[in-house]
Amino acid sequence: MLKLEEEICKRGKIMNGEILKVDSFLNHQVDPKLMEAIGEEFYHYFKKYPITKVVTIETSGIAPALMCALKLEVPMIFIKKAQPSTMQEAYVSHVFSFTKNKSYTICLSKHLIDKEDHILFIDDFLANGQAFLGVEQIIREAGAVIDGVGIVIDKTFQDGHLLIKEKGYDLYSLAKIKSLDENGVIFDESL
Ligand code: 5GP
Repeated sequence: MLKLEEEICKRGKIMNGEILKVDSFLNHQVDPKLMEAIGEEFYHYFKKYPITKVVTIETSGIAPALMCALKLEVPMIFIKKAQPSTMQEAYVSHVFSFTKNKSYTICLSKHLIDKEDHILFIDDFLANGQAFLGVEQIIREAGAVIDGVGIVIDKTFQDGHLLIKEKGYDLYSLAKIKSLDENGVIFDESL
């Protein structure tokens, strides 16, 4: 997605060889027009499936997931990173965070997803695929089907891209980055 690639080049900051900071338009401050365009792009790709719910993990996946859900006219669910006392019956899984270098618990209230559901998972970044694996476990437990995985920024030099493809999922990434270094961001047009 050209507009997204332009924003990454203009406003993204390379933290080290593996982490891209995009807190001026996606991870902290959010650009609504860009999110709208991202939602439309995901919508056009995934409308071929009978999606009933868009699922993400809080926090940074919420903006793109919501814009896509709006276009698909289905609810958006954000899986929580801690179980609130009001959530009694929950599916629980664990995710190792690549950026925080520690594990955290994710949970979903059981009444929100069931075996009739067709899920589109959306996230801001794909690195090693750990967030996806945690969500996959929860969706499986709920008996629902994952029809597709939509990623805003996919760092294809890490393991997640191949992991999700090898599991047979329909993965659609809007910006694919094959390297991040002192020369800048190099996009991957080959995958
Ligand atoms: P994974 O679960 O695929 O290993 O990592 C994905 C999650 O880690 C994303 O939801 C995102 O929050 C975070 N993440 C991974 N790589 C980056 C990055 O380069 N920049 C930022 N800002 N977050 C990242």
